[in-house]
Amino acid sequence: MAQTTFRDLYIDELKDIYNAEQQLIKALPKMAKAANSDELREGFEGHLEQTKGHAQRLEQIFKAMGEKPTGKKCKAMEGLVEEGGEVISGEFEGEIKDSALIAAAQRVEHYEIAAYGSVRAFAEVLGESEAVDLLSETLNEEKETNDKLTSLSGEINASANEVGDSEEDVEDKPSVRTAKSKAARA
Ligand code: FE
Ligand code: FE
Repeated sequence: MAQTTFRDLYIDELKDIYNAEQQLIKALPKMAKAANSDELREGFEGHLEQTKGHAQRLEQIFKAMGEKPTGKKCKAMEGLVEEGGEVISGEFEGEIKDSALIAAAQRVEHYEIAAYGSVRAFAEVLGESEAVDLLSETLNEEKETNDKLTSLSGEINASANEVGDSEEDVEDKPSVRTAKSKAARA
């Protein structure tokens, strides 16, 4: 067997992310359709367009190296997408489902942030400066998406926590409500 190189590892990792992005291009429309909040749905739709761009940037990197992006399956993303599917067909509804969708989507973004961070570091060592720039652009978009999800979750989690409360409860101070729901769970 021929000795493998660090560049082989770099290509292998890029193929893994490329496959992950392809899986997301299929999954994001389903996440968007399942969303209850308009803002969350539009967020998923917007990130779908960005995700297509992420795949194109990877194709550009492969083309410049004379390599093909296909041939690997990202098992981690397969699992994350599967969990997203469980949320979509699961028991939670309305705002509570939105909270669950955000939790699933943030797992995906964190995975991508880790993957792009590693592969960009590889590109730096290999002196692939154009790839470093392209991977940085994608990495920034993944981080921005994660931040958007965090800020959306603030409002959505709060309304999810009010589902099932009576008018009177909703008018209570949040601290009282938190104590009450804690007591109810105990
Ligand atoms: Fe992406
Ligand atoms: Fe993403």
